[in-house]
Amino acid sequence: MEKQLISLVVPCFNEEEVIDETYRRLAALANSQVDCEFEFVFVDDGSRDNTLQHLREIAANDQRTLVLSFSRNFGHQLAVTAGIDEASGNAVILIDADLQDPPEVIPEMLTLWRDGHQVVYGVRSDRPGESPFKLWTAHLFYRLLNYLSDTPIPLDTGDFRLMDRSVVNVLRTLTERDRFVRGLVSWVGFRQIALPYRRSERFAGTTKYPLRKMLRFASDGIISFSVRPLRIAMLAGTLCAGLACAGIIWALCVRLFGHTWVQGWAATIIAVLFLGGVQLICTGILGEYIGRTYMQGKDRPLYIISERLGKPK
Ligand code: UDP
Ligand code: MG
Repeated sequence: MEKQLISLVVPCFNEEEVIDETYRRLAALANSQVDCEFEFVFVDDGSRDNTLQHLREIAANDQRTLVLSFSRNFGHQLAVTAGIDEASGNAVILIDADLQDPPEVIPEMLTLWRDGHQVVYGVRSDRPGESPFKLWTAHLFYRLLNYLSDTPIPLDTGDFRLMDRSVVNVLRTLTERDRFVRGLVSWVGFRQIALPYRRSERFAGTTKYPLRKMLRFASDGIISFSVRPLRIAMLAGTLCAGLACAGIIWALCVRLFGHTWVQGWAATIIAVLFLGGVQLICTGILGEYIGRTYMQGKDRPLYIISERLGKPK
């Protein structure tokens, strides 16, 4: 019987300090699995350090390696997307380059896959070594996302997951730009199962997700999977209008049944500023959706591969 091919997709952005160790651990895992074959798909997301040179060496020494190099930094989610598009395995596994997702969990994923599950997603049961700020914001984000989203997205999952070829083929047909891959995988359905694992600390180097990228990532997640912010904007407008009506009625009553008008300009300014603020926020929410529609309308390619090394297609 022909052996099944498993693709390991590794997005790398400025990971020169870890990439050799990551390859070593992945290769050790691949060599220990006798009943399937492996390919390594490294996607260099426009690294500005020596990551690509390290990957070149790896590709030169291991026939199972495919290296895709982006023309610039397109972001983690697009790097993962390119890996999914180019992988040729019967199953595709997404794994971070920093060894926070332990490769030793992969055999368990493979077992669940062979049992008939088409997606095995890792759930972080424990995240040592992360800052309290990151833990707290991540906790909040996944709960908010689930509250807002129409597609249930499992709590505390990352991109560390195994996907069957049938799932990958569907994912490849989705052309949306502001990608939130873990949400897309939930959206496509199929037989999915959670696999709890202990997330390790970063092997070396620092996080490639500064606050700015984290916020962008969070808004992609929410906006791509929900129109509820628009409804909330409408609700806020209705609430303000209601408040203003109550104010008008009160002012009229004071005049009609009393002997004075409502005094002072402070109340006027506060009301104007308040309403102005609410309107700007609502316009901003609207703008986020329109901006994304505009970018999608341009239909530019999602990423640009400037160099391809190793395994032929
Ligand atoms: N990454 C990437 N492009 C980016 C940022 C990150 O390909 O613009 C990769 C990075 O090399 C790593 C993975 O995405 O393999 C996760 O990034 P990181 O570990 O820095 O994020 P964290 O675990 O701190 O959330
Ligand atoms: Mg990490």
